[in-house]
Amino acid sequence: MSSIHPDIARILITQEEIAVRTAELGRQISDDYAGEEIMLVCILKGAFVFMADLARAIECPVQTVFIAVSSYGNSTQSSGVVRILTDLDKPIDGRNVLIVEDIVDTGLTLSYIAGLLRDRHPKSLRICALSNKPQCRKKEVQIDYCGFVLPDEFVVGFGLDFKDFYRNLPYIGILKSELYRKPEC
Ligand code: 5GP
Repeated sequence: MSSIHPDIARILITQEEIAVRTAELGRQISDDYAGEEIMLVCILKGAFVFMADLARAIECPVQTVFIAVSSYGNSTQSSGVVRILTDLDKPIDGRNVLIVEDIVDTGLTLSYIAGLLRDRHPKSLRICALSNKPQCRKKEVQIDYCGFVLPDEFVVGFGLDFKDFYRNLPYIGILKSELYRKPEC
C-alpha cells in the first residue's frame, strides 16, 4: 500500500481497485470484440496510464493511436473549447475504434472527439472511460465501458493531473481544496 501524497485530501479509488476493475473491463472488451481487431485511441495526456494497463488486459489484437487535446488548460473547470493539439497518425476508416479516456465530466471533450472520429467512418466506435462524473454533464455521451462513477470532486492521480502534476500517483484521490478553487457545474 503506497503512502498518501500530502496534497491529497482522500484516496477515492485505490491502486488495487483500479487493477481489478481494469482486468474486468479488459475481459468484457475481449469478449465483446472476440475475433476482431481493435484500434485503441488514447486521449492524451490523461488516459495514457489507464490505456497502458487496459491494452495489456485485452486479448484481441490491438493497435494503439494517440490524440492530444486540450480542454482545461491550467484550470479545474472545462472551458468547453476543445483544441486538437496532435491528431491521430493513422486512418481509422473501417476499424473498430475504442476511445480510451481518463474521466468524463461535462462530456464536452468526448462528444467533440467522438463526432470528429465518427466523421472518419470507423467500422464501429465505442468509448471506454476510467471514470465518470455524471453530475456536471452538459453533453450526453454514451460510455460503453466505465471504470468508476465518482462524486463531483476534482480528482488527480492515475493519469489525471492538476497543472500537469500528480499523473504518477498510483491511485485516484481528491486534491486538497486549498490548492485550487472548486469549479461550479
Ligand atoms: P469534460 O470535457 O468531460 O468536462 O472533461 C474531460 C477532461 O477534463 C478530462 O479528460 C480531464 O482531462 C479533465 N477533467 C475533468 N474532470 C477532472 C477532474 O476531476 N480531475 C482532473 N484532473 N481532470 C478532470
